[in-house]
Amino acid sequence: MPDQALRRLIEGNARFVADKSASDESTQRRIAVASTQTPFATVLGCVDSRVSPELIFDQGLGDLFVIRTAGQVLDRAVLGSLEFGVIELQIRLLMVLGHQHCGAVKAAMDALEAHSILPAEMEYLVEALAPAVEQGRQMDGDRWNQAVRAQIDLVIQRLSQTPIMQAAIAAGELKLVGACYDLETGQVEITSA
Ligand SMILES: [Zn+2]
Repeated sequence: MPDQALRRLIEGNARFVADKSASDESTQRRIAVASTQTPFATVLGCVDSRVSPELIFDQGLGDLFVIRTAGQVLDRAVLGSLEFGVIELQIRLLMVLGHQHCGAVKAAMDALEAHSILPAEMEYLVEALAPAVEQGRQMDGDRWNQAVRAQIDLVIQRLSQTPIMQAAIAAGELKLVGACYDLETGQVEITSA
């Protein structure tokens, strides 16, 4: 079932890339899902306006359980929401979706490099993204995109160590998948499955 969910996302992304979107936001669908929701996948993604999971995976009302924060940073509210998806909604697939040229990752890189402190709670984001920026720095290639990929991996690592996720994964009831979205091609690449 987690694999089926992943296939649905990949097929939806292919429709989006091919300009053949067919997602259902009709009145009929709205009424059909009004009494209960059974989303087939959770997507933890970035707030970037160009990376809406429902659009890039061509999914309609009630299909996806979506949580978005800048740079897909985790906090307790995000974790609780993800756990709600696993326990209450029995969602079998959790995708951590980063994207090329993530502005949050870039802002954290710049702030860390300049040793500057961002205003108010934005500094929380910088602190949360610092390990990914550091890891990206040690890798070959484009540091910005390496940091994006490191952040996807680090979030997956952290999620897989939380008791609820760990138990669901061990029971074969949950799969964690990393993915990265290309702003130009519209394609989602699976980075870890
Ligand atoms: Zn972003």
